[in-house]
Amino acid sequence: MWLINSVARRSRGSGWRAYFLIACVALLAVLLGGASWSAYRSSVERNVAEAWQVHTLEVLLETDRLRTSTLQQIRGERGYLLTGDANFLRPYESGRQASIEAREKLAALIADNAEQTARLRAMDDEFSRLGEVLEAMIEQQQDGRGAEAIAYVRRGADREAIEAILSGLEQIEATERQLLADRTEAAQQRARENELYQYGLALVGLSLLVLAMVTSFHVRRALDAEAEIRRELLRSAATDPMTGLPNRRSFMEALARSLARADADPSRDLCIAIFDIDHFKRINDRFGHPAGDAVICEVGARAHDALRKRDLVARIGGEEFAIILPKANLDGALAVCERLRMTIDGQPVRHGDAIIPFTISIGVAEFQRGDDMDHIMARADGALYEAKTGGRNQVRIAA
Ligand code: GH3
Ligand code: MG
Ligand code: MG
Repeated sequence: MWLINSVARRSRGSGWRAYFLIACVALLAVLLGGASWSAYRSSVERNVAEAWQVHTLEVLLETDRLRTSTLQQIRGERGYLLTGDANFLRPYESGRQASIEAREKLAALIADNAEQTARLRAMDDEFSRLGEVLEAMIEQQQDGRGAEAIAYVRRGADREAIEAILSGLEQIEATERQLLADRTEAAQQRARENELYQYGLALVGLSLLVLAMVTSFHVRRALDAEAEIRRELLRSAATDPMTGLPNRRSFMEALARSLARADADPSRDLCIAIFDIDHFKRINDRFGHPAGDAVICEVGARAHDALRKRDLVARIGGEEFAIILPKANLDGALAVCERLRMTIDGQPVRHGDAIIPFTISIGVAEFQRGDDMDHIMARADGALYEAKTGGRNQVRIAA
């Protein structure tokens, strides 16, 4: 009973551990999934920030081109006004052209930003105003009214437009730099979070791994113990608890196997013997039941020692034993059984103060073609009966 209880207890113990193990593995899987997601998000954010860096550089390049081309336009116009040299109109023209191109490119680059686009549109008027003023002064110079045009410059006719353009460009650049700084900060923040997450995950994962290892070690141990208990259960189901010898059931199973082997191979000898303690009832009556038990145990031990390694002795009843003697013909079996009888006869068992003399009777049967278990057992039993009726303390062979 304690064996069954022990198995049940251990099974329950290993059960929750197995579930715990599964839970650990599932949690680890979830955490790994989370880590991969976090790493993915972080890399997306980094890529976005890098794209923004490129975009900002492009915008800054175009604002710089716009500033340079505007100034080049003004420098060309001023040179022409001061010198009257028409060569100065070339940088003026190319500056004007470059300014138009830069404005178009800049507009395309900031098209997805409404605030920046509005800022650039607002500068359109200033560009037109500046263009008209410069154009007018160049015409004045061409018409021979250079002094008038220079006075026009001195009055600062185009200063407001120039200042508005330069400050507009600075605003666009400042906004773009701020946007880049925000994106970079967001990406760095995400990277820091991801790093923290990865460290946390490594820590939790490591703890879970240790837990899972400890748990699987316990599960392994519980399963081993359970297997050992099962083996013990099987052993005890096949063993006689008093003598430790095989019981009737396992004797019958072994006999069935031996008979099958002998049946399959006619050259293979096989004998069996059944022996019984003589007048055992008297031993019980005279020395008491425990003394009788001691005698049964002693008979089991002596039989075990007297037999060959390949023989099998079992307790098949109260004070009745049986032996399988493989590869033994009648002569051999007789010799073994005689030796066994003599280890009992004349060597009493000592139990407490009592000295208990006793004997055994043995019936031997040889396997005959066609014998089944009942037949051969019945013939050995018959021989035992003859030994009993013939005076006991002797070995008889079945006919
Ligand atoms: P015989 O020589 O004809 O075999 O006589 P016997 O007295 O040995 O045979 P009988 O069958 O009359 O008695 C067997 C006795 O064995 C009866 C039973 O009480 C006793 N016995 C059976 N099992 C045990 C046991 O485990 N322990 C003890 N002490 N006695 C047992
Ligand atoms: Mg008896
Ligand atoms: Mg008996």
